[in-house]
Amino acid sequence: MFQLEPIAALATAPGIGAIAVLRVSGEGAIDITNRIFRGKDLTKQESHTAHFGTLRTADGHIIDEVLVTVFRAPKSFTKEDVVEISCHGSEFIIQQILRRLTQEGARLARPGEFTQRAFLNGQFDLVQAEAVADLISSDSEASHRAALSQLRGGFSKQLKVLRQQLIDFVALVELELDFGEEDVEFAHRDQLRQLMLDIRRVLHPLIDSFSTGNAIKNGVPTVIIGKPNAGKSTLLNALLNEEKAIVSDIPGTTRDVIEDELFIDGIRFRLIDTAGLREATDQIEAIGIERTQQKMRDSALVVYLFDGKNISPDELQESLADIRLSGKPYLLVGNKLDALTDEKKQLLESIAAEPIVWISASQQTYLDDLKAALSARVRTDSAVQTGSAVVTNARHYEHLTGTDDALARALTGLDAGVTPDWLAMDLRVALRHLGELTGEITTDDLLDSIFSKFCIGK
Ligand code: GDP
Repeated sequence: MFQLEPIAALATAPGIGAIAVLRVSGEGAIDITNRIFRGKDLTKQESHTAHFGTLRTADGHIIDEVLVTVFRAPKSFTKEDVVEISCHGSEFIIQQILRRLTQEGARLARPGEFTQRAFLNGQFDLVQAEAVADLISSDSEASHRAALSQLRGGFSKQLKVLRQQLIDFVALVELELDFGEEDVEFAHRDQLRQLMLDIRRVLHPLIDSFSTGNAIKNGVPTVIIGKPNAGKSTLLNALLNEEKAIVSDIPGTTRDVIEDELFIDGIRFRLIDTAGLREATDQIEAIGIERTQQKMRDSALVVYLFDGKNISPDELQESLADIRLSGKPYLLVGNKLDALTDEKKQLLESIAAEPIVWISASQQTYLDDLKAALSARVRTDSAVQTGSAVVTNARHYEHLTGTDDALARALTGLDAGVTPDWLAMDLRVALRHLGELTGEITTDDLLDSIFSKFCIGK
């Protein structure tokens, strides 16, 4: 395994904590740590063993009592020699230790450098490396699950196998080129077609999962819209169980846009409360309405809330037309069920001609139905439920669609009987996208840009 120069960094979050962990990796990592450590001789210790001792300044003063864990190459995260130092979580101690490590020959690690080394040493592919970053920053159950599944190999293993098969075919097609004018076919066209179809079958669910995946990673921007007095603030409060919005009997008083988060089934909904949907009645309201439209554009999911008691069938129809026109995914939610007659309810249902989620915001009833509907809305068409791979990364998405487009062109070409050089060209493009996706083809710029998004110490 090849080892680079030793690097060191704080691996835990900066700031004061009970303990902090520093990580040293690279050629000589154990030796360097040993030179500032008093206790056992670390250079003689087995891999995966922990040792108590003290770290010393150059003139022998104790910096801290620490626990040092030794990992020997290649059985470590980076596949290099690695030492993890658990010290007390003080900024001063951490700085002192880092200074000592650098005095003894380590240099401070750049952001993501540990993960980059792990990748370079074949610990995992690029998709998995990026999943490490996502895992670290995942803040909901669903995003954690998506990152973990990618880390475990997710879709990249399957794609790697298919890519290799495609490489073999491209080699045959290119061999045909060498024969120029002679009419030879080394690459079996039917098998090639089948392989391309197989690859696209793997690609499509991944491509489709991107919008859901992104929603899971970043939260689903969800806007609650409805006329003044529909009960939007009451609903928001009920959902968040907190008095975050101003509830008032005066129409149109909820002027400030309030953003909050709601977790349902591990999915994060970023709720946005806005002023009324319809025409402005005064200046302040107008800003609110402009904002409503802006928020609708920014949102991924619209909850249209109406006051079942006071809305007229015409009003409902008109509002529905507006929302459908916007093309946004929406949920139709009828409020004030407690104050509603059965006749009115049925009338509105027949007007809407689509499912209505009925709730009573002020009574806090049937909110579970609403939550279930929200969750179902995000999960439909998604691979989340089955636990299959979900694409959350824009770079992956770009290469997945790039591969798919190139294969589509190659298939069209194949059917039209294009010459081998045309075919080879499209196949090469597909291969390049696949290779860049899993990191089998990389450039230093790409790696630098990916790993620089990590924090230092990762
Ligand atoms: P917003 O303007 O859409 O934010 O509406 P509010 O949340 O301020 O609610 C307007 C009025 O409707 C308030 O007086 C609420 O108490 C009342 N309200 C909200 N939800 C319900 C409900 O489920 N049933 C009944 N009867 N009244 C409700």
